[in-house]
Amino acid sequence: MHKKVIIIGSGPAGFTAAIYAARANLEPHIFEGAQPGGQLTITTDVENYPGFPEGIMGPQLMDEFRSQAKRFGATCEFKSITKVDFSQRPFKLWSGDDEYTADAVIISTGASARLLGLDAEKELMGFGVSACATCDGFFYKDKKVLVVGGGDSALEEATFLTKFASDVGLVHRRDEFRGSQIMRDRALENPKVHVHWNSVVEDIIGTKETGVTSVKLKDTQTGEIREETCDGIFMAIGHNPNTDLFVNQLDLDGANYIVTKPDSTYTSIEGVFACGDVQDHTYRQAITAAGSGCKAAIDAERWLESH
Ligand code: NAP
Repeated sequence: MHKKVIIIGSGPAGFTAAIYAARANLEPHIFEGAQPGGQLTITTDVENYPGFPEGIMGPQLMDEFRSQAKRFGATCEFKSITKVDFSQRPFKLWSGDDEYTADAVIISTGASARLLGLDAEKELMGFGVSACATCDGFFYKDKKVLVVGGGDSALEEATFLTKFASDVGLVHRRDEFRGSQIMRDRALENPKVHVHWNSVVEDIIGTKETGVTSVKLKDTQTGEIREETCDGIFMAIGHNPNTDLFVNQLDLDGANYIVTKPDSTYTSIEGVFACGDVQDHTYRQAITAAGSGCKAAIDAERWLESH
């Protein structure tokens, strides 16, 4: 199948790029990937997306984005791109054995939750270890949980978990939160939330049969190790860009984000554009992702026109 524009990824950036590209008669095709709708589909209320004064549920917002893109002729497929070859034009992309070609490619593959890298974390993922409070909080009614991290995600998840859990411990490696004042206040004012300052997770104890039963925390100042009982632990320590596909194809920065040229969505390969969290260290918001998706479609349209 050949397309003028293929979009890889389906969060706010990808769908906004699709809306603009479709309205420019570029008939974009979107590969929605492993998490159709992107990260907003695993959150609840989105309170900061302009135009929704009462807030809107993340999955619903993404359904609206998708419908809007389809209305103008974008096509969507629930498939992941598994390989790309940007060394010649038209660009080649594969989903398994199926090969596709495109005159221009817009990358909006987003980012994924970062993990600590402990063996027990991998082993007990889904058995007491989680990276999504919205998805799994419900299972911890009247239980004791820990949340790791000190940014807005950790603060938000800790507050959210108080709806279910009886006790929420925030484990942060420093003595000061990175998250915003409003999120700090909201978390710390909640009597169920308390903070383990200057603490890092050394190990997670439990089995698939028992679930998580406790966690070993190390005091970063004294080196002392203590055991904290809990029924679940939520990782909220940031995200990594989803760029494995593009190693050796595009310029990536030291943290593996796609490098885009200043004030544009141009990558190191002409005709390949990147938008959203996959190229954004700084803002990482749905609205900024959507804005950069719009830019990518305009950049692609102008580039195609000039070629
Ligand atoms: P973040 O701001 O990068 O914070 C990550 C946190 O995890 C930091 O406190 C960091 O500690 C800690 N951390 C990182 N690696 C760690 C490790 N290996 N071990 C222990 N702790 C570790 O990520 P985020 O909280 O996901 O937020 C990302 C962006 O999304 C931010 O711009 C945020 O404002 C935004 N956001 C907004 C909302 C909202 O407005 N509703 C909600 C969620 C997120 P240090 O502080 O010591 O580096």
